[in-house]
Amino acid sequence: TKGTSSNFIKNIIVEDLRTGKVDEVITRFPPEPNGYLHIGHAKSICLNFDLADDFSGKTNLRFDDTNPLKEDVEFVNSIKEDVTWLGYQWDGIFFASDYFEEMYNRALLLIKKGKAYVCDLSPEEMRAMRGTLTEPGKESPYRNRSIEENLHLFESMRKGEFKDGEKVLRAKIDMASPNINMRDPVLYRIAHATHHNTGDQWCIYPMYDYAHPLGDAIEGVTHSICTLEFEDHRPLYDWVIRECEMEAKPHQYEFARLNLTQTVMSKRKLKQLVDEQIVDGWDDPRMPTISGLRRRGFTAEAIRNFAREIGVAKSNSTVDVKMLEHFIREDLKMKAPRTMAVLRPLKVVITNYPEGQVEMLEAENNPENLEMGMRQIPFSREIYIEQDDFMEDPPKKYFRLFPGNEVRLKHAYFIRCEEVIKDEQGNVIELRCTYDPETKSGSGFTGRKVKGTIHWVEASQALQADFRLYEPLLLEKEGEESTSFLEQINPKSLEVVSGLVEQNMQDSKAHDKFQFFRHGYFNVDPKDSTEERLVFNHIVSLKSSFVI
Ligand code: ATP
Ligand code: MG
Ligand code: MG
Repeated sequence: TKGTSSNFIKNIIVEDLRTGKVDEVITRFPPEPNGYLHIGHAKSICLNFDLADDFSGKTNLRFDDTNPLKEDVEFVNSIKEDVTWLGYQWDGIFFASDYFEEMYNRALLLIKKGKAYVCDLSPEEMRAMRGTLTEPGKESPYRNRSIEENLHLFESMRKGEFKDGEKVLRAKIDMASPNINMRDPVLYRIAHATHHNTGDQWCIYPMYDYAHPLGDAIEGVTHSICTLEFEDHRPLYDWVIRECEMEAKPHQYEFARLNLTQTVMSKRKLKQLVDEQIVDGWDDPRMPTISGLRRRGFTAEAIRNFAREIGVAKSNSTVDVKMLEHFIREDLKMKAPRTMAVLRPLKVVITNYPEGQVEMLEAENNPENLEMGMRQIPFSREIYIEQDDFMEDPPKKYFRLFPGNEVRLKHAYFIRCEEVIKDEQGNVIELRCTYDPETKSGSGFTGRKVKGTIHWVEASQALQADFRLYEPLLLEKEGEESTSFLEQINPKSLEVVSGLVEQNMQDSKAHDKFQFFRHGYFNVDPKDSTEERLVFNHIVSLKSSFVI
């Protein structure tokens, strides 16, 4: 086999191919179009597509659209876009709703075999009679309806003769089963609602546990991979395949879902953030959605590498978001031009530099990747440096600018701070410095050394820009069960500062990525950046203590 590293599902596939249990690997990625995809889905996408690819198999994209109330074409389209952007091409694209007629016919078959019945219990009554882990459930009083009556009632359900919730179709399995999922689970419910794909054609909808195995079997899926919560549903999955007499025999395998620190990973919660306008849409760069990560500046390659590195396990765990950040740093290190941006500008006048003169200095675009070439940056008497790079009264070991101290301007000259100008409130508003022409970068000057190098932009040509700086959405670790996650929202998850960038970045386009000296990696925002004013999203800082 080629490609991705070994894992337990891959081992199963190798064995299945060796023994001839299957002769081709077919997987599927089955999102419900009720929200945008998140990084957890990316793990499942990579797993399904990579597995099939490793064995020259196929992967379908199947929309699991069995709940008309929550689903929408907006989500269908975003899912297609995200899967494609991640770099994958599906073989078939299907909707569970394409199979509603066949699913209905299989349900008739179950009824005819005495394996399914129409039940009039309310959801509350059903729950009360389901029993517990230690106590068996009680049989429904409708369980022994005749096959004829069940056929008639189920057909009437389809015709729309009952209201929502009035009746359901249930599998007739075993109310005493130690596995609660096998205690006559619901197969169909009534919902008078318009479906994004089938319109008003149906008013009964199959449940996930019924629709999913049938969809897999219809498509000839061989290895149906889902998250661990569905482990206890596997006997029902197998029951549906068997009792519906499906020709193909797909198998379900479960792996641990991805959880990330300091964010939420459930579409319901992400939707809440969007609906309550805590973030500005599903693609807000703070969101762990694929569209949010893309807008933030994460690359598909970094996400794929991350997904492969975390691998597939059989027990749930939470992955540190720093690991995801590690992969984007690695990916951009050689690709992103290294330029200078001043986020919080402080004006510097170089008093011994000729007035009106502008010289062009040479700077390499990426010292680790010389193929990226050189650029010209203007230098003159007035520049801006970072407010943080000056302290009037510095502590020991502060090597940047302070009165009397000399530092190197990146790509330019040494400057010495001679004078500090303040406003009436005592805020530092300008520095007067002198430069030493002999210290020009690239000149080979060795006369003396300085300990600090700071970045800057030339004042007359620098471009105004907004910088969006991010912190995690949540302050603490998010337990998946927690309902009060809104209380953990970090009020400082977004800060916008206005500053300056080098003039030569004026033709930057959406999604151009840069490494700003000392500040880290930034992405040109695809929605809000304009020719008049660039907007940059902070992707990740330069350094981290994280090691793999
Ligand atoms: P959510 O709980 O966020 O709504 P879901 O499982 O209901 O997620 P689906 O659209 O049904 O969302 O998921 C499509 C596929 O992605 C499923 O096979 C599911 O197992 C997988 N998946 C969803 N969340 C994760 C995750 N956090 N880690 C790995 N796989 C996931
Ligand atoms: Mg869901
Ligand atoms: Mg689901």
